[in-house]
Amino acid sequence: MLPADGVAAVGAALSDQAAVGAVAMTPEHRSAPEPRIPHVIVVGGGLAGLVTARELLNGGARVTLLEASSRLGGKVASHTVDGIRLDAGAESFATRGGTVAALITELGLSDDIVPPAAAGAWLLSRTGKALPLPKAGLLGIPSVPLARDVIAIVGLVGAVRAQLDGLLLGFVGARERNLGSLVRKRMGRAVLDRLVTPVAGAIHSVHPDQLDVDVVAPRLRDAVLSRGSLAAAVLTLREAAPAGAAVQGISGGVFRLVDALADSISVNAAADILLRSTVTAVDPTGVTLGDGQRIDGDHVVVAAELGPGSGVNITLATLVVRCAELASAPRGTGVLVAPGAVGVQAKALTHATAKWAWLADAAEDRQVLRLSYETAPDSDDVLREQARADAEVLLGVKLPAESVVAFARQTWAGPRRAAPSVVAAGGFGAQTESGELSTPADASDASHPVLEVGERVSGTGLAAVIRHSRAESENLLTDLASRPGLRLAPPS
Ligand SMILES: Cc1cc2nc3c(=O)[nH]c(=O)nc-3n(C[C@H](O)[C@H](O)[C@H](O)COP(=O)(O)OP(=O)(O)OC[C@H]3O[C@@H](n4cnc5c(N)ncnc54)[C@H](O)[C@@H]3O)c2cc1C
Repeated sequence: MLPADGVAAVGAALSDQAAVGAVAMTPEHRSAPEPRIPHVIVVGGGLAGLVTARELLNGGARVTLLEASSRLGGKVASHTVDGIRLDAGAESFATRGGTVAALITELGLSDDIVPPAAAGAWLLSRTGKALPLPKAGLLGIPSVPLARDVIAIVGLVGAVRAQLDGLLLGFVGARERNLGSLVRKRMGRAVLDRLVTPVAGAIHSVHPDQLDVDVVAPRLRDAVLSRGSLAAAVLTLREAAPAGAAVQGISGGVFRLVDALADSISVNAAADILLRSTVTAVDPTGVTLGDGQRIDGDHVVVAAELGPGSGVNITLATLVVRCAELASAPRGTGVLVAPGAVGVQAKALTHATAKWAWLADAAEDRQVLRLSYETAPDSDDVLREQARADAEVLLGVKLPAESVVAFARQTWAGPRRAAPSVVAAGGFGAQTESGELSTPADASDASHPVLEVGERVSGTGLAAVIRHSRAESENLLTDLASRPGLRLAPPS
């Protein structure tokens, strides 16, 4: 395990001149320097930085990982509330594509992958009515528009409009990369506003108009064309998904993934992990730290939000409560809040002890509730009271002040880009967006431009971040292997 504070220099850094393999000294070879192991600087020790560092190390590169804070993991983190160790950020992962499970398995934690409770989540409508979310949907898009649970939320008129999707020609809306436009064109406003906006917003923290369909629901547009309707396309994608829940967790907490990743990196002698090392400037050949120190490398990967600007902050209010009525999970695994819903400030509530059996065991007679806010009061006392009052409305139970035995606040900065749609421009070798980094004037002419990974370019969520980081690392290894004077270390 890495030390939690101070600068951790892990592993003995190999010399930049480290030779790989023996080279027979013929007259032609005598003047050529021996190839050395490429050195990559990774900025940011969140999930993207850790996955990238691990892939590059496993592929035979030397890596310096620079993390501004005193701990690794970024938005995958833990905190202890009333003696219970809880996830303070991400608490589940999408099963789609098997990406996260594959990494967890490589790290030896596959036995600890757990499904959430089957109860499903609820939605608090704009009018303040709480209803179970339709079962057979994708990002809130229904596969059966006239199903009873859909009508209950979008109304009969909205559901009939959505059913018209089946009468439209397949190409209508299929060219729309924007999720909001696709749903609006095929199923109408009611489905977009009352179902897709709260569901997609809870997952991606932005309005569907800012989401790229091909990133958040790959193959959906193709399925609209081939099946002739959006509802049938949703059904096709759901049938193609592996059996079981759309999300899973890790017994003990998703933060264990970061601990395992950090351990797997720190045992590699070619890794240097530097905590409390804030990067202030980046260029294609190196970085500058806050204290003015310069670190050079053969390539720089940025896995952090750098530069000015800000995204939407998310504040997580965690309540540990004693309330017998909550033992029956009255609103399933939690409640999403439709935009504009009156009487509630929270964006969503997760009834964590109803969602995860391992947590219910750990919490014994207590219940753990996580409420998320886009705007939260500065005072902890005010936020605690706000969260308690919101939980009463969202869960439909009385929660007197004395039932709250503990409270914790955690605020996270959201990704700055408006949508994961920039992924199309952010692939291997893509220059980071202008003005976001302090770069020399000729940076854009560099033959090895700064590579960017992480949720800003991959889209939000563990699955998207891991998939993108792994793919970009593989591309970078191929590039490094082709450069004269460099040679990747053979697998140990
Ligand atoms: C409250 C919350 C709940 C979530 N729940 C889920 C969930 O259940 N499932 C899911 O899949 N996803 C979830 N997500 C999203 C998911 O956590 C993120 O998409 C993912 O963790 C982002 O990883 P990242 O490495 O791209 O960024 P980050 O985690 O933000 O990591 C960036 C790192 O870079 C460091 N850094 C920043 N600036 C510098 C600098 N100048 N120099 C050096 N280092 C720097 C930061 O300190 C940080 O460690 C949630 C997010 C939040 C906020």
